[in-house]
Amino acid sequence: MSYRYVCRCCGMKIGEIEQQHVSETQLGLDSLTPEERQHIIAKDASGDTIIRLTCNYCRDAMEQNPELSLIDNPLQ
Ligand SMILES: [Zn+2]
Repeated sequence: MSYRYVCRCCGMKIGEIEQQHVSETQLGLDSLTPEERQHIIAKDASGDTIIRLTCNYCRDAMEQNPELSLIDNPLQ
């Protein structure tokens, strides 16, 4: 079981943590609201935890084109 950080816009893998027991504080998830957790944290078919963030590239694109953030998967 591992934790994967994936960009929710382009699907690029941002990072991966291969540890059985990682606290939510270590993952940076302890400050999320329940709604944010539902959007950001998911499980894939093999039981890995997927944490959906925005990669630097997409964040830059959204800052330059704020309307893109209103559209799901603008870069796919
Ligand atoms: Zn991205």
